[in-house]
Amino acid sequence: MASNTRTNGARLWDSLMQMARHGATPKGGVKRLTFTAEDRAARDLFRSWCEERGYGVRVDVAGNMFARRQGKRADLAPVLMGSHLDSQPTGGKFDGAYGVLAALEVLRSLDDLEIETLRPIEAVNWTNEEGAIFKPMLGSEMFIGAKSLEDGYAMTEPGGRTFLQGLDTIGYRGATPLKPYPIHCYLEAHIEQGPILEIEKKTIGVVTAGIGLRWYAITIVGVEAHAGPTPMGSRRDALVGAAEIVLAVRQIAAGIEDGRGTVGCLTPQPGSPNVIPGTVEMTVDFRHVSVESLAAMDRALRAQVEATAARHKLKASLRDTAHNPTIPFHPTLVSWVREAAERRGLPSLDIVSGAGHDACHLAKIVPTTMIFIPCEGGISHNEIESATLADCEAGCNVLFDVAIRAANEAKEFD
Ligand SMILES: [Zn+2]
Repeated sequence: MASNTRTNGARLWDSLMQMARHGATPKGGVKRLTFTAEDRAARDLFRSWCEERGYGVRVDVAGNMFARRQGKRADLAPVLMGSHLDSQPTGGKFDGAYGVLAALEVLRSLDDLEIETLRPIEAVNWTNEEGAIFKPMLGSEMFIGAKSLEDGYAMTEPGGRTFLQGLDTIGYRGATPLKPYPIHCYLEAHIEQGPILEIEKKTIGVVTAGIGLRWYAITIVGVEAHAGPTPMGSRRDALVGAAEIVLAVRQIAAGIEDGRGTVGCLTPQPGSPNVIPGTVEMTVDFRHVSVESLAAMDRALRAQVEATAARHKLKASLRDTAHNPTIPFHPTLVSWVREAAERRGLPSLDIVSGAGHDACHLAKIVPTTMIFIPCEGGISHNEIESATLADCEAGCNVLFDVAIRAANEAKEFD
């Protein structure tokens, strides 16, 4: 197989650095929000790189871009690889861009090495993955049909501009219909965005699943009162209840192996130094790969909210705002990633993706997996996000091997 051949890490790195000029920030990061001039420039650059190699680029009605390198059998469904070129407001050079440009590098290397594959192979740039402006992973969600074109188009930015208006502003409303064409499989290379690979000194994360997630909005109601005249024993302080829940969320998640629990938003009202808070709105984010563990965390949270409300004479209500089950990736593709790393002598580790990715949507309709590489300190969604050329190249070589293996299989996955 292809383990004696390799991709061009220096060229991949150079492409990453050129791409990072679009939306470059003074601190060395990237601000490339969806439907801005920077997004358009990044798309134009990607398109020009694809077209100069003769990969035809299709743009669909949601702005997703697909570049195709032909295979020997045009009648067979292509292998699809990619990620996203948009970023967070204070994002880095690698989140998303790595997956798109590693995919492009695989195609370029196939050309250089004059390797023909049975199936076509495509590189994709999904529209609006980050959710800094609209909800996350919108392009891939529309692509798989989980959100209708109409609903997607009507989504609005905080400034009032709709998705459709944004798409038209940058000239990327394509003609290709959304209906997913037959795809053999989907592969996404990405930086880990966490510290595990670095801590364990591994180069390749063999991603077995996208983690399950539950979101809650909790409202706690007490009684607003004057901070001076109200004795401590007579208070019904909503923020004290909220504080107890914040600590409990941490304890619940820490008490279950590989659990994650976060309170990201907390708003006390009326927000005055000499008023006991009467109301608090807060959010909870729980994640776990196991359905049972996530359910146990759910039960513990509900019991805690009830107990806290009773103890402090508060009213508390809890609403479910999201419930995304764990997405297992395709076992055959997962094992191919593991084998490719092994053959290349790259230390690897099975890992679960704690973040959402376009791959989590694609996995619902086609065999899918992801390949992670380390990022410095596990830091991402930050301008200082960093990865090494060697790791970028290693991940790209694994992507290359798995893509070729998949593209040379005439039969479909089970
Ligand atoms: Zn990403």
